[in-house]
Amino acid sequence: MLREVLLHASRSAGLRSFVETAPGSRQVVRRYVPGTRPEDALRACRDLTGQGLTTTLDHLGEDTTEPEQARAVRDAYVTVLRLLSDAGLTQGGRVEVSVKLSAVGQALGEDGEKIALENARAICEAAAAAGTTVTLDMEDHTTTDSTLFVLRELRRDFPWVGAVLQAYLYRTEGDCKDLAGEGSRVRLCKGAYKEPPSVAYQSASDVDRSYVRCLSVLMAGQGYPMVASHDPRIIDIAGALAVRHRRTPADHEYQMLYGIRPDEQRRLAGDGETVRVYVPYGEEWYGYLMRRLAERPANVAFFLRSLVSRG
Ligand SMILES: Cc1cc2nc3c(=O)[nH]c(=O)nc-3n(C[C@H](O)[C@H](O)[C@H](O)COP(=O)(O)OP(=O)(O)OC[C@H]3O[C@@H](n4cnc5c(N)ncnc54)[C@H](O)[C@@H]3O)c2cc1C
Repeated sequence: MLREVLLHASRSAGLRSFVETAPGSRQVVRRYVPGTRPEDALRACRDLTGQGLTTTLDHLGEDTTEPEQARAVRDAYVTVLRLLSDAGLTQGGRVEVSVKLSAVGQALGEDGEKIALENARAICEAAAAAGTTVTLDMEDHTTTDSTLFVLRELRRDFPWVGAVLQAYLYRTEGDCKDLAGEGSRVRLCKGAYKEPPSVAYQSASDVDRSYVRCLSVLMAGQGYPMVASHDPRIIDIAGALAVRHRRTPADHEYQMLYGIRPDEQRRLAGDGETVRVYVPYGEEWYGYLMRRLAERPANVAFFLRSLVSRG
């Protein structure tokens, strides 16, 4: 129930403006978002790299409504990739970027998909020049087909472009089969949006079972599975599947979000696993923050107290 309210709130313009201007918001945001400027992102990536972790950088933004805004997001990615490259952080894909297609124009009417494809292509060119990769985030189910189409188009020129699949969707086991081939980078997550029973499992246990079925397909395949979860049981099962399929830390990785279970991120890396931290930065943190609170209702009381505090 609370999860649904928070996911609904993530799309509410009125609440957004209240939360963004509330005195205590920044304090909560800082736990999940290292800052608003490219330099903040760079600092976080450098710090995590120093801890033996790899990272994927997300310039926050979604649901872009103007073509100029989509171009600005594209340019922000190109700039940050250049900064990361100049700082020597992108070698071997140690720091890569994650892109939401809705931020680069996917929702701009009839031409949206084409605009998003062209902007994503420019980001891929900048990533190639920096010696690193791009992963396309996955948003709500109405965008899945379009995002997978853009992925296929981009992979013709940039075969290393990765995709995200969400275990809560009924279709995902089939998508995993389609994307389990050689060179295919797939991040598997549970899914963060509010989806109807017509397309998605509703109970946590059904989502977890689907996750394990999907991961089994990816681990048995020829691609590069990226296990995006903080769930200890999922992480244990991923480890067992990796052993069963004779995978090494060079052909799969674990991924977690910035600020969530940082000790576990370091423990896995210390055990020799490849661990990538998803680092969001930028002014548009509202929708991202609401989805993180929806995953962890225990944080909501802390959040509400912070909102009305002066901090
Ligand atoms: C690298 C990465 C990229 C992602 N990309 C996408 C994407 O493109 N599209 C998409 O729909 N979703 C994405 N997600 C979000 C994902 O779908 C889930 O909503 C999120 O990861 C929570 O699911 P979980 O697997 O961690 O398991 P859960 O069952 O939600 O959590 C397991 C445990 O992790 C800890 N935990 C989880 N969330 C939080 C939190 N917010 N605060 C504190 N502790 C927490 C708790 O200890 C909890 O018990 C991504 C997640 C990761 C890690």
